[in-house]
Amino acid sequence: LFVAFEGGEGSGKTTQSRTIGIWLRDQGYDVVQTREPGSTKVGMRLRAILLDAAEKGLSARAEALLYAADRAEHVEKVIRPALHRGSLVITDRYVDSSLAYQGAGRALAPDDVSKINAWATGGLVPHLTVLIDTPPEVGLTRLGGAVDRIEAEPLEFHERVRKEFRKLAAAAPERYLVVDGTQPMDEITRQIQDRIHELLPD
Ligand code: C5P
Ligand code: MG
Repeated sequence: LFVAFEGGEGSGKTTQSRTIGIWLRDQGYDVVQTREPGSTKVGMRLRAILLDAAEKGLSARAEALLYAADRAEHVEKVIRPALHRGSLVITDRYVDSSLAYQGAGRALAPDDVSKINAWATGGLVPHLTVLIDTPPEVGLTRLGGAVDRIEAEPLEFHERVRKEFRKLAAAAPERYLVVDGTQPMDEITRQIQDRIHELLPD
């Protein structure tokens, strides 16, 4: 089982994906918890470039390709081997983040971003994507000030990102769970558990 967590800045996806990982381990499942960018050796170096506030002039295409390179490495070295061993894989961000941030956010053609990512991942699609949908003003306030390159983008950027995430979820409801990220944390966890429970192997 392969589950991705997606959402904007400060949406709580990191916290929720960890909580769900612990819940699954407590039930005896072998869980591989991972994130993007930066879950491989090369990926860590790509993450440093991608998040560096000094990299202001990075072109949108280069950014999209670096994220895709990080993801290719992630899929080949971490995700596929884990799925092959029968582990449950939970990732904090995946392809949808690129469709939302590099596609809608940076205004690259959605088709192009989609194609390079299909190639980078060898077509690996999560069984379920959990979208923690949070208004950007709420998420950014939670963070208490931008710390990296993307978080410093204007609100309109983050609104385009949110809209794209929601659009992707609406287009394939059987592969998505959209939860309202402004709800109490326990409530969000409960809704995610209910949905994942249906997908678990016996
Ligand atoms: O999830 P996390 O906050 O660690 O992501 C790091 C940063 O990378 C965030 O600011 C996020 O917006 C950005 N990002 C991006 N495009 C992606 C994935 C992450 O701009 N495809
Ligand atoms: Mg962040």
